[in-house]
Amino acid sequence: MNIYVLLKQTFDTEEKVAVHEGEIVEEGAKFVINPYDEYAVEEALRISERHGGKVTVVSVGPERYAEALRTALAMGADEAVLITDSRIGADEYAVAEALAAFLSGRNPELVLGGNFSVDNGAGQVAVRLAQRLGLPHIAAVIKLDIAEDGKTVAHRDAEGDVEIVETALPALITAQQGLNEPRYPSLPGIMKAKKKPLQRLTLDDLEGLTAEAVSARTERTALFLPPPRKAGKRLTGEPADQAQQLVRLLREEAKALQ
Ligand SMILES: Cc1cc2nc3c(=O)[nH]c(=O)nc-3n(C[C@H](O)[C@H](O)[C@H](O)COP(=O)(O)OP(=O)(O)OC[C@H]3O[C@@H](n4cnc5c(N)ncnc54)[C@H](O)[C@@H]3O)c2cc1C
Repeated sequence: MNIYVLLKQTFDTEEKVAVHEGEIVEEGAKFVINPYDEYAVEEALRISERHGGKVTVVSVGPERYAEALRTALAMGADEAVLITDSRIGADEYAVAEALAAFLSGRNPELVLGGNFSVDNGAGQVAVRLAQRLGLPHIAAVIKLDIAEDGKTVAHRDAEGDVEIVETALPALITAQQGLNEPRYPSLPGIMKAKKKPLQRLTLDDLEGLTAEAVSARTERTALFLPPPRKAGKRLTGEPADQAQQLVRLLREEAKALQ
């Protein structure tokens, strides 16, 4: 099976993120594969182990994304493609257009991606891409069964409930937490990854695309951290006193009660 995984590198949100003049400070920041895309890579590997086939991971973004692609190769992906070109806009529209141009004509049987990215988190790229490629799309999948004939049954997270959706392949499916437990790259995997193909493409390699067609359609006008949280108040005394204090604070300070 010809499987493509859409992979974005993100900041490690477990680490402290600094913002300076509306931009995230990249110096000293730790970058990882977007966690939802890790589930997508793992699922692609499991499907190819079961059904045979090739797993290609593809990113659109700056050169540093190559590190995330190498990690996916070390996990077991067969090939990686980095589409990197400053003429491609850095928004969901532009990225989806570049991915659509890349995937058109490559006949993917299955495209897997993340439900959303943990940094920008628009949750738009996959659905835009599915629309551009004319593929059925199932989002937030927590269980995926693909039969030999391509009949696909996906369990998706529907706000805490489970929705079961069937489709035929080709399709574009995004991963939700719980889909699987991603493997760690093994030492032999890391060694092998060094020899696996990591192709770099620019806009000129994407047939039929002009710089205008992949210019960003949105502009970020501000980016700032949430205001620091005020220290909490600890109530003391007997439970009845504490309840009285709490009601007073809710009324007078929090203005949550009339
Ligand atoms: C020249 C250039 C520079 C860029 N620089 C930055 C940067 O400095 N910081 C930054 O955060 N982003 C950068 N990007 C990427 C771009 O901003 C985002 O990928 C895009 O805006 C999608 O945003 P999102 O995170 O909200 O995606 P969402 O729609 O939330 O992502 C959903 C899913 O779509 C897929 N996906 C999303 N983005 C990509 C991608 N780029 N490649 C492959 N699959 C993807 C993943 O499977 C992801 O889980 C750059 C892109 C280009 C072309």
